[in-house]
Formats: sequence, C-alpha cells, structure tokens
Amino acid sequence: MSIPYQSSEPAPIKDHENPFESMMERFNIAAEILNLEDGVYDYLRTPARQVLVSIPIQMDDGSIKVFEGFRVIHNDILGPSKGGIRYSPDVSLEEVKALAAWMTWKCAVVNIPFGGAKGAVKCDPSKLTQTELEKITRRYTANMSSVFGPDKDIPAPDMNTNEQTMAWIMDTYSMHTQRTETGVVTGKPIILGGSLGRREATGRGVMICTLAAMDKLSLSPTDSDVVVQGFGNVGSISAQLLYEQGCRIVGISDVTGGYYNAKGININKAIEYVQKNRTLGGFTEADAVTNAELLELQCDVLVPAAKEDQITADNAERLKCKLIVEGANGPTLAEADPILSERRIMVVPDILANAGGVTVSYFEWVQDRQAYFWSVERVNRRLERAMRNAFDAVYESASRHQQTLRIGAYVMAVDKVAKTLKLRGIYG
Ligand code: NAD
Repeated sequence: MSIPYQSSEPAPIKDHENPFESMMERFNIAAEILNLEDGVYDYLRTPARQVLVSIPIQMDDGSIKVFEGFRVIHNDILGPSKGGIRYSPDVSLEEVKALAAWMTWKCAVVNIPFGGAKGAVKCDPSKLTQTELEKITRRYTANMSSVFGPDKDIPAPDMNTNEQTMAWIMDTYSMHTQRTETGVVTGKPIILGGSLGRREATGRGVMICTLAAMDKLSLSPTDSDVVVQGFGNVGSISAQLLYEQGCRIVGISDVTGGYYNAKGININKAIEYVQKNRTLGGFTEADAVTNAELLELQCDVLVPAAKEDQITADNAERLKCKLIVEGANGPTLAEADPILSERRIMVVPDILANAGGVTVSYFEWVQDRQAYFWSVERVNRRLERAMRNAFDAVYESASRHQQTLRIGAYVMAVDKVAKTLKLRGIYG
C-alpha cells in the first residue's frame, strides 16, 4: 500500500499559534472529513469541565502565598478522564485546554477506555523547597478531591512533577476517602502500586512506532541514521532503544545544545554521561551543533522529543529526514503540516507516537484495581501489541481518507468519540 499524503492548500503562516489553535486546526480537518454535525462538533471541541482553584500555603519563612491551580476535563465519553499535572510558572488555561484535548484523542487512538484531562499549578518549582512543593500538592489535591477519583479522573506526572508528587496526591486523596486508593493516580513509585515498565513506556512506544513506519518506507534500522532532539525521559530512552535495534544515532541534544557524530554516538555512554553530569554539556564523543542545526541534519529519522513548537513553516522547508516520529507533545505547528506533506516526509503524530506512556498508565490502573502486578515482560508485550495495532489502524485510516498519518489519527479518534457520544446520547 502506498503512503497517502495530504494535498490541501498550504495554510496561511501566522505570527504565533497557541497550542489550542494548533490542536483545533487538525481537529477541524478531521471534523470536515467526517462531516460532523454542528452540535457534535461543538460538543467535542468544548471542554466538559474547567476547574480553577486557589492554593494558599504557608511558606517556609512563615509568609502565606496563594497559587493558582487548574484541572480541565476535556471529555469523559470513553471513560474516566486521564492526564498529567504540570507545575510551571507560565502555564495558562489555554495550554491546559489543548493538552486535555490531546489526551482525549490520544486515548482514543490507542484504544484505551479513558477520556482526556490535564491539570496544572502555576508555580516555579525551582524556587520552592520540598516542603512547600508537598504543601502545594496536598492542598491542590484536597481542593480537587471531588474531581479526582479512580473511576472519575486520574492524574499522572507531567512537566516538573514526578513519582513523589503522585505519592503525595495518592496519600492526600486516600486520607479524604479514608481508604487507600492507589488507582487515583498513575506514574507512582513501584512500591506504592506503580507499574514496571512505566518509566520506559513512552520511549518504547516511540521505538515501536519508528520501526513500524520505517517498515512502510522500506528503511532498514541497521542502515538508518537517526537524530533525537531532547535527552530526558522520552528522548534518551527512544535513542537507547533505537540504538539497541541497530540504528545509527548521529545526533542528540538537550537544553545545552546539539551533539553530532556522523559515525554514530554510543547512546549508553551518553546516558552514563548525563547520569554523572546531569546534562550533555561538555559531551566530547560528538561535535557541538545548535539545536536549530540539529533539526536540519541529514538523517533518515528525526525524533523531536523535547518540547512543543520546534518544527515550523520556516524550518520545515530545510529538514532533510524522511520520517519524523513525534516523541514530544505538539513539536510541529499546524502551519508546518502542509509543507512536510508536500515534501513527502512521513510524520508519526504525537497522539500516536508518544501514547506508550498513557498506555502503560492504563496498565498501571488495571493492575491497581486488581491488586495483581505484572512482570515487565508482560507489560512490554502488551504495550507492543497496543502500539502496533494503533499504528496499523492509523495507517489504514490515513490511506482510506488519502490523508497524512496525523489527520488519519485525528479522524479515527474523533470518529470513535463521536460514535460513542451518539450511542450514549445527550442527557438533558
Ligand atoms: P524531560 O524533562 O525528561 O526531558 C526534556 C528534555 O528536553 C531534556 O533533555 C531537556 O534538556 C531537553 N530540552 C529542553 N529544552 C530544549 C530545547 N530547546 N532544545 C533541545 N532540548 C531541549 O521531559 P520528557 O518527559 O522527556 O518529555 C519530553 C516531551 O515528551 C514533552 O513534550 C512531554 O510532554 C512529552 N511526553 C512525555 C511523556 C512521558 O511519559 N514522559 C509522555 C508523553 C509525552
């Protein structure tokens, strides 16, 4: 089967796209293809619930400070809503709304029975002590105790939150319900009911999607050059697993810049280096390049796994890869989509490529509910099956509609949620 590419007119280039607009542009194309009726369109574009809370805490110096907290439940038609919580000084409600909608489509694409949500606290964790962070987390959870719940809304870690944050949320929620509720969050420490394989799950999903897409493009892993942007959880594990598959990883990067070696970088050495030095700064096994140059290196596969808005209408013209696998959320602006499509660069979209994390979060929730825990082999086997099935379904949807994989994924997800909504009906 040949790969279909979208042939729509190039979108007008804007000065700035906010993440919600970027998501809506893709959603609108899917809605048009599906011929969604106006009411269903309105229903699916509107978050089901947006909760704003203030979080007053006593700081270590005795003063009182009030922080702002959000939780947006975009949609819970397919099941309890699922989505991370980020701590960031410049997070906005618009950003949280976009991320919550992405979660709805992501869960639908990988066929797990969850809706989409996202939460945030506007704060700068680098300026807070551990005690202050714990107080913020507990007060945020207490204020959200009627929103969260293992059958209602299940948070997970996101930017600047981690296993410890999830442990505090689980404990605070459990204090309020007066019973231990491990299933109220995922991404917990293993000892508290976390899942084996969760830490590596997003990178593993990226690797599985990359191999599936390479197969469609007749690229052999052992004869392919890969560039990975970002060397945190997703980037380093994607790079490591692709390296283990025989790919030559010619470029890696983090916040300190890019590192290029045409002969290939030993990823295990790079990971060891970061474990010792915290960043890739000073890494001498490769030549230094800027992050902008890194994206434009000659390679077969580019994995943006750092942050949003990296591939724009400007640099899309200059990329030299054949395949992009989006490890990060929203690394490509909607304005770049038609350019990549025109240049016949295949893009495995974020809502498929990085869905390995939420898939194993679902496995964690299932294990918590049964209080029966799986081996890492079982987790990885089931993840591989889920990701392969999702990739094939997205590819089939894209082929059928003569669209890119991104629009194929959106069409599939929006159709699934819309059909479920129709069956459930509108109450009221
Ligand atoms: P992380 O904080 O562990 O790592 C981020 C990496 O990006 C770091 O190496 C950092 O130095 C680097 N970075 C930051 N700014 C950069 C820049 N301008 N250029 C190059 N590198 C830069 O985060 P993560 O968990 O790996 O998440 C990365 C992306 O993947 C985010 O978009 C996140 O939303 C998405 N994601 C993560 C998961 C997960 O399970 N962790 C799941 C789905 C999606």
